Amino acid sequence: ETCIQLKSVSKMYGNTKVISDLNLSVKKGERLILLGPSGCGKSTTLRMIAGLETVSSGDLMIDGHRMNDVPAGKRHISMVFQDYALYPHMTIEKNIAYGLMVNKVNKEEVARRVDQVLSILNLKGLERRYPRDLSGGQRQRVALARSIAKQSTIFLLDEPLSNLDAQMRVSARNELLKIHETYHQTFVYVTHDQMEAMTLGHRIALMRDGQLQMLATPYQIYHRP
Ligand code: ADP
Ligand code: ADP
Repeated sequence: ETCIQLKSVSKMYGNTKVISDLNLSVKKGERLILLGPSGCGKSTTLRMIAGLETVSSGDLMIDGHRMNDVPAGKRHISMVFQDYALYPHMTIEKNIAYGLMVNKVNKEEVARRVDQVLSILNLKGLERRYPRDLSGGQRQRVALARSIAKQSTIFLLDEPLSNLDAQMRVSARNELLKIHETYHQTFVYVTHDQMEAMTLGHRIALMRDGQLQMLATPYQIYHRP
């Protein structure tokens, strides 16, 4: 079952075409990786799916509906960026709960979800602290926790682990897999790290110069002649 579909999508910035004629389908519950060198158009693709950039031509479909003109706030998508802006004046708990309360999720449900994401991401005990009291890695996990707590069915991640050191990155990868096992979201995950792509992806879309160069499973890539 298809969740996200890009049909011949192109993106122009002024006269420059940065995405050209991209065709790509993401299945429901799939973890799809967008892999490729800096500047190849990964972030732009993700931002078009999120509704943070317009599509210049072609169609963007989600669950069979054309989304080109649907604003970001109405797409029911969660997105995590590499620069995880937390609210500095709110505790960790509040940082996670705030968006839910704005969306009128009831108090008990907010408490339940906050508790759940704190334990999945090993953040228990830090709920009353402020972002400035946390390490970079902890802050990045709070940003992840905050997005997960929304329980959107589509989860877009733009190099979410890039600010972590090598060891933390491995444990964060495992946490992401645990999250996916719990919520079965559709993941679209941007990285330029091949190891991350191979360990996290059901399929890997290799991009180059705004085009899809290859689409394959990690198994196929590993066993390529
Ligand atoms: P990646 O995420 O793979 O590093 P991006 O999607 O960020 O690539 O960028 C793709 C290309 O589009 C790059 O050449 C980049 O400079 C250009 N680009 C991205 N955003 C803008 C923008 N707002 N205005 C003009 N060019 C942009
Ligand atoms: P990354 O590749 O690490 O995701 P980028 O440098 O591509 O980061 O993009 C950071 C921000 O700058 C994005 O909002 C992007 O749209 C914007 N941007 C990137 N390239 C350009 C550009 N050539 N002109 C204007 N804005 C750009």
